[in-house]
Amino acid sequence: MARKKKVRRSDLKTGQVLCSFCNAKCCRYFSLQIDTPNKWADFDNMRWYLAHDKTAIFVEEGAWYLLINTKCRYLQTDYLCGIYEDRMEICEEYSTDHCDYDDDEMYDKFFDLPEQISEYAEAVLPPGSRPGVRSGVNRLPILNATEVL
Ligand code: SF4
Ligand code: SF4
Repeated sequence: MARKKKVRRSDLKTGQVLCSFCNAKCCRYFSLQIDTPNKWADFDNMRWYLAHDKTAIFVEEGAWYLLINTKCRYLQTDYLCGIYEDRMEICEEYSTDHCDYDDDEMYDKFFDLPEQISEYAEAVLPPGSRPGVRSGVNRLPILNATEVL
């Protein structure tokens, strides 16, 4: 479906609804707060998150979040909710007041590649916190033939 033409919030006329001018940005991702990392193992877990497609990590007001860019299965091609009357509470409570409509999201920190997290961890952790890179011996396969027979 064609991209909707955006209007500025301030240009909305009485009776117009912001969502009518939006491609449902808020239905195309979800994010979960995660523990604040303070050791290499925490950052290593984040590397694993970011090893997966369509993930990112961001920090806002000191809180760390895992972001997963995946569209809700109930979002229709007309950008409307397919289960509007039965949508989840989190959707019901979400309002346009501070929503994702504007393209001016600014995070305190944003990482979308494992290498970025490694570099950040190396910069903030005490020297030597990161274990050495493991040798290639016994890394794969996880199971050997006798275990699966
Ligand atoms: S709440 Fe905001 S981001 Fe979500 S569809 Fe409406 S205008 Fe778009
Ligand atoms: S249930 Fe509806 S409102 Fe909630 S994320 Fe999915 S499409 Fe959007």
